[in-house]
Amino acid sequence: MRGYGMYSIDNVGWLEKDKPVCGPLDAIVRPTIIAPCSSDIHVAHGGSGPKENLILGHEAVGIVEEVGQYVRRFKPGDLVAVPCVTPNWLSRGVQNFRSFSHDRGPFGSFKFVGEKDGVMAECFHVNQADPNLAHIRPGVEPEAALMTVDMMSTGFHGVELADIGIGEKVVVIGIGPIGLMAIAAAALRGASQIIAVGTRPRAREVAVEYGASEVISYRDGPLDQQVMDLTRGKGAHKVVVAGGGPEAFADAIRMTRPNGVISNVNFFDVKDNIAIRPLDWGLGMGDKDIRGSFCPGGGKRIQRLINMIEYKRIDPTKMISHRFHGFDSIPEAFELMDKKSPDLIKPVVYLD
Ligand SMILES: [Zn+2]
Repeated sequence: MRGYGMYSIDNVGWLEKDKPVCGPLDAIVRPTIIAPCSSDIHVAHGGSGPKENLILGHEAVGIVEEVGQYVRRFKPGDLVAVPCVTPNWLSRGVQNFRSFSHDRGPFGSFKFVGEKDGVMAECFHVNQADPNLAHIRPGVEPEAALMTVDMMSTGFHGVELADIGIGEKVVVIGIGPIGLMAIAAAALRGASQIIAVGTRPRAREVAVEYGASEVISYRDGPLDQQVMDLTRGKGAHKVVVAGGGPEAFADAIRMTRPNGVISNVNFFDVKDNIAIRPLDWGLGMGDKDIRGSFCPGGGKRIQRLINMIEYKRIDPTKMISHRFHGFDSIPEAFELMDKKSPDLIKPVVYLD
């Protein structure tokens, strides 16, 4: 079968591979819509170490083609959303951890691209179909369901991690799709003021549509000072970091008031060095809680996020800025994601 991926670092193209084999608990899924993600670009450029002959992609909805003999909840022909994180629920590591994401080591539940071929292929393998897949019921747009598998799940997780309460003042750093979903989730959680940080014009408009009260930019001066000015000198209760580099993270600590939380769902690079000045952290005793966590996995979470779409609590399709059609348009969509044009938020590729 054909798939799009990396021969080696910085070297992407079509790969020819054997069709994956379905285990007794597993499923083989034929993707119908996929979304390239900045994490795929990160991996292709060597951000998670050397990888070879690997099909990329971890965001897909599709049709179940085959299930293993012990699979009960899914059958061939079902339309499903596939979480980007698919834990091995039999692992004791997964049973131990709060977010199910890490298994025996960091990101151990991120199977696609992490340890096996991804979803940008004619078909792909899903471990443990029953706990890891989610049905897409009639009435839910498949492309909306596609936004739950990573963008909504991760963005909402930033807000869960920050434990945003009613009336709190929130800053979301980064207005890529994860940041936009964090803004929407903060609004759903009942935040009062939501200050978004970002520069891309189209994303700034969508940030306001999802509930941002103000959108600020690092181009207009130090971020922490701008937040202080907008919060009458007090700072934010909660800051969700969904973008930016080490400097933006240091700003996040400065702009958080005591008893506040800085919640990180942003990938930093192995070469990054985050410098925290003691004064910004109350000389180390400022009661500022720094948390960071990876997208939780599993089908139940994705099913709940799809429920939110079904009951019109959120429309994640506002983020879809580009729609491609046909299997052969995957490279074009991937390149768009890599080059990041100013109007880009999230591309999707319809495969049939
Ligand atoms: Zn992703």
